[in-house]
Order: sequence, then structure tokens, then C-alpha cells
Amino acid sequence: MLTPSSFACGQWVAPGPDAAQIIGPVSGGVIARAGGAALDYAAMVEHAVQRGGPALRAMTFHDRARMIKALAQAIDARKEELYALNGLTGATRKDGWADIEGGIFTLLGIAGKGRREMPDGHVYVDGPVEALSRKGGFLGQHIAVPLRGVAVHINAFNFPVWGMLEKLGPTLLAGVPAIVKPATQTCYLTEACVRIMLESGLLPDGALQLIVGGTGDLLSRLGPQDVVSFTGSAETGLKLRSTPALLRNATRFVAEQDSLNASILGPDVAPGSPAFDLFVRQVVTEMTVKAGQKCTAIRRILAPEAHLDALGEAIAARLGQVTIGDPAGDAEMGALASADQKQAVLDVIAALEGETCAIASGQNDIPEGPGTGFLAPHLLHCADPDAAARVHEMEAFGPVSTLMPYRDLDHAAALANRGGGSLVASLVTDDPAVARQVAVETAAWHGRLYITGTSVLKEGTGHGAPLPALVHGGPGRAGGGEELGGVRGVLHYMQRTAIQGSADVLTAITGQWVPGAAEIAGPEHPFRRNFDAIGIGETLWTETRQVTLEDIEHFAHFTGDTFYAHMDEDAARANPFFPGRVAHGYLLLSFAAGLFVQPDPGPVLANTGLNGLSFQKPVSPGDSLRVRLVARRKTRRTDSYGEVAWHVTLYNQDREQVAEYELLTMVAYAA
Ligand code: NAP
Repeated sequence: MLTPSSFACGQWVAPGPDAAQIIGPVSGGVIARAGGAALDYAAMVEHAVQRGGPALRAMTFHDRARMIKALAQAIDARKEELYALNGLTGATRKDGWADIEGGIFTLLGIAGKGRREMPDGHVYVDGPVEALSRKGGFLGQHIAVPLRGVAVHINAFNFPVWGMLEKLGPTLLAGVPAIVKPATQTCYLTEACVRIMLESGLLPDGALQLIVGGTGDLLSRLGPQDVVSFTGSAETGLKLRSTPALLRNATRFVAEQDSLNASILGPDVAPGSPAFDLFVRQVVTEMTVKAGQKCTAIRRILAPEAHLDALGEAIAARLGQVTIGDPAGDAEMGALASADQKQAVLDVIAALEGETCAIASGQNDIPEGPGTGFLAPHLLHCADPDAAARVHEMEAFGPVSTLMPYRDLDHAAALANRGGGSLVASLVTDDPAVARQVAVETAAWHGRLYITGTSVLKEGTGHGAPLPALVHGGPGRAGGGEELGGVRGVLHYMQRTAIQGSADVLTAITGQWVPGAAEIAGPEHPFRRNFDAIGIGETLWTETRQVTLEDIEHFAHFTGDTFYAHMDEDAARANPFFPGRVAHGYLLLSFAAGLFVQPDPGPVLANTGLNGLSFQKPVSPGDSLRVRLVARRKTRRTDSYGEVAWHVTLYNQDREQVAEYELLTMVAYAA
């Protein structure tokens, strides 16, 4: 008998006398007692805000990203403990892979985004500096900082590990503590994963708490700096988001709800073709993985009228081969999470009667038994999807999908959109024009469009797989929320603020040098200085170099770039951009490097790139160049070196800017 505990205010709290009994969907017997503990929700919020928040905010984004990566590694090292419980939820090992390894992969992806795309500091810079005054001295810059409250994560039963980790990663990266409340039916698996993370010792006190069971008055205690991230049914979502305290305080409520996802077989895809087969496999996968209990599963299959019968037969044939049984054994499909869940699915199938007829259902052998959750896949057929209503509205959260015909692409798009807002829609086509038409007509209604075909037969990531770098969420019925999407998902736990001030003020706040801010004269050439010694704003003004006609001709013949603007005076003059023959932009860049480089071996290890290059004014033979190099931003990268981004400006003899860019170098730390 499992007894998953809550973790509140730094203590494990065992189930109370009123704990609920959890019936295992495979055995039909009681497998756990959970909940019923007398938790002090106010103290939990206080603990998160007073202990967890400050500790997380003391870390930089990169510190937190490293912590998240280490958490993923800690889970990975003990993942067999999670697989040992996974089968009890009704899930096969393959299903568990999506949940457990998918969760680890998601944490690693979020950590990587944090290291690559966020600063090694405490303030996230959002977008470019905006000039606000005519002389350019008064500027605007959006920044984002962590909210000062707690994130309450309320999760669905179907992904007890991934569902927690996909929210926890962005929350921790933002610098916000979390209270996780898993669905009771599968909470023991979430609890095991929380134990692994806490036992790793990586998390600061108060950063992560767990509620097994009900949330009591928790939501009523939340305020303007808190976030609720909810995953579950639209019905529960509506109830929770209507909590008066959340409405009164404008508490952020991120919702991922149910979704009538559609998949469209392109009109160009003929039965028997590799793309047709791909479509069939995709539908069968989405119906059977996790026994169809995926928020992203395909609920509606849209096919051209002419191919509907062939498609139905192909899907039914494959579904008929799926073995169903004990997920700990060889079965390809396990059980739904509970007998109640199975009944809920059967109720929806019954409600769809009249609009649909079954094509293939209940064909497979399934283990029977009271209290179990085994259910054969049900492929339904809806002949008149325009007249039907329930098939576009009722979600059977199990191995159920409805096949329906479309006349043309506009009709297919209109049917896909009738889900009222979904997490994902997919299209199989080999025709980019079909893809464009469907995307333009459907994108507004779907959080993700998954378009695949013959050219990416083996590379597609899967209709049902949310990815850490891409947004997961959808409009309307799907909850109107967004999660993941790289740094976008982190910003849900941060406040975006527009800062107005001088260049010096913006530099001080962001830790990144802003043009117009003070230039600091270093004691020596900055390329002689190691990473730690270089100060933000440290500036080098180079000597001057004249650009001659011989230089231009030499460069043209040496590189082969004999474009007329550099070679032909009359033709260049006829061009609206040039006063006559001008220097190549790349010649200017090369001369700039020659002016600022420090030739001896030193801390600068490599030049790794260049951002935001613009050529702003032509340089004519006889003009002189001078370069200013300013240390703009520093980011630690490895144990031995970090990246220094330099703001580089090229000036002519009249102190006019002729070119500007950001130069990236890798610089060694202090020896
Ligand atoms: P649910 O019944 O709505 O429950 C979702 C979560 O809300 C559970 O943790 C549940 O806890 C909790 N909850 C219910 N009532 C509550 C209350 N009054 N106060 C606080 N918490 C409360 O959904 P489910 O049956 O677990 O999940 C299936 C649904 O989730 C499907 O409709 C599916 O489409 C959707 N889903 C969506 C996504 C997505 O990303 N969009 C992902 C997965 C699932 P208890 O278990 O303790 O009741």
C-alpha cells in the first residue's frame, strides 16, 4: 500500500485519517491512500515567499539553469524508481518514457535555453533599447524580473512527472518557488519524483512544496504576485479561475485545458503512399499511447471524402492488432487511469451516438475485471460533421477518435476550427501550398500546427509531443494559456516592466552597456585582460587608418568581390546609395579588426560571431576610419572561459558613424 505524503514547510506530512483510497486501474484493487492531511496552506505560502523566493532570487538565471540541469540528471539517475510505479497508473513502459524521460528532456531543454538565451544576472532584458527623446539621451528598455510570490501548479492525472516538470522548469528558472498539487489518482508517481528532487539537495529550502489531496483554502490566499498554472478539464478550470481572491487580485491564471485536436489528411495524399501510411500510424499512435489520455491526442480525423473509406479501413486494421493488457508485460496499450475514467469515456461515446457510428471498436481482447480501466480503441465515423455538434465539443479522454469527411481545404479548416480552440492540429501533405492555406486558415484557433509529409517521414517529432522550445497551449476551449516555448514560458512567472531613463541608468539596471552610457578607460588594452578583469563599459579607441583606392582594388581582386560600386566610378555614382566608388563593407570590418586586435597570445581565445551588423554611411577612398570598442555584456560559458560581447562602432574623419555591430569573443577567466 502506497502512502504518498505532502511536503509542506520543509516537512513530509503523511496522509490523514480521511485519506482517499486510490484504486489501481490494472488490478482493480486499492493501491494507495492519499491526502486528508491537515495542511496549513497559509504557512505554505509564507514559507515559499519568505524562504524559497529570496533564495532563488539570490541566484542568477545561469545558476538556476545549472540547478535545473542537475535536477534533471538526479531524476535520470533514479528513473527506474519512477518506472517501477508507472505501471500502476495503467501506463506501459513506452507511455512512461513520454512521461518520465519526456520530463527529464524538458527540464534539460529549459536549462539549455536559460544558459543560452538569458543573462548570467538577475534582470532579463526584453527587446531593444527604444529612443524616447530627439537627442537620444532619454531611453526606454523593457526588463523582466521574477514575481515575488509563489506559483501554484495544479496538474492533471495523465502525466504525473512531465506535467509537473514542464511547469517547474520555467518557474524555477524565473526565480519563483512552487507548490505542486498533482491529481490524486496518480499522485504517488509525482511524489516519488519530488522526493528524488528534494533528496538531491539541489533545491533551496522553500523552493518546492507538494500537496497530496485537496488544496483547502490555498487559492483564496493568493495575491497579485502569485501565479496559478492549471492543467485539467475546462470545467475545473472555470471553477478555479473564478475564485474571488484570484479575480480580485488579478492573479495570473495560466490554463491548459482539454482540447478537441484535429488531424487533416491532405488532399494530395493518396492511399498507399508513404505519407498516407504516416498519417495512419500517427492516428493509431495518438489513440493508443497513454491509452489516448493525452491532451494533445487526435480526437477528430479529417479526410477527403474520396479517401475516407480507405483511411478508415487502414486505421481499423492497425488498431485491431494493438495488444491491450498489463502494462508491466508486453502489451502495447495499458489501462485508463481508473475505472471512473473508463466510464467517463464510455459516457461520452454514448453521448456521441446519433452523430457517429462506430467503425471499429471493442475488437481487441482486453482483460476484464471489476475496478479496472481497460478499454479497447474506438474509431468512430461521423458522416455529416457540419450538422454534428457534440463531436466538436465533447472530449472523450481515452482511446477514441472520430473520422469525418471534408469537401475541400476551406471546409477542412472550418471543421478543424470548430473545436473552439485547441492545443494542436496536424496536417499530412507533400504540397507546401496546401500547408500554407491550412496554416493561414487555422493558426488563429490552434496553439501549435504540426505539418508533416514524405520529406520528413523519419524526422517528425510527433503530433502529440509538446517540446520545450515550442509553445504548448491554445486559445479558447484549450484554456487560452501558454506554457513552454523557451524563454516565453519563463516570462509567465516574471513581471515585464518598461524602464525609462538615461543610458547610464539603463546600463546600471540591466548590467549591459547601452550606447550613450559612460565609457570607462581601462588600464591596458582590453584584449590583454581576462574575463573577470574586464569591466562593463570598458572602452578602447583605436588609432586612425586611411582607406585608399589601392586598398579597395586590392581587396576586390583578392576576394573576387568586384561589385561595380567598388570598381566603376560612373556606375557607382548612378546608384542612389553611393557618391562614387566606395569601400566594401567587409573591407571596413577587416580594417576594424586590424585596428583593435591585440596580436600576442592572451586571454582572448576566439572570435565566435558578430551580431546586428549595419553599414550606415559609405566610406570613400581617402576617408579615415577609427574604431571604438566597448565591453557590453559578459556571460560565463564553461569552467575556463566566458563570452564577452563588445559593442563596436566605426567612425569616419568627421566622427560620423559608418558601421556598427556586436562582436562576440571567448575570453579566459583569471588564471
Ligand atoms: P480535472 O478533474 O479537471 O483535475 C485537474 C486537477 O485539478 C487535478 O489535480 C484535480 O485534483 C484538481 N482539482 C479538481 N478540483 C479542484 C478544486 N476544487 N480545487 C483544487 N484543485 C482541484 O482533470 P483531470 O481529470 O485530472 O485531467 C483530465 C483533463 O485534463 C482532460 O480534460 C484533459 O484534456 C486535460 N488535460 C489538459 C492538458 C493540457 O496541457 N492542456 C494536459 C493534460 C490533461 P484531484 O485529482 O485531487 O481532484
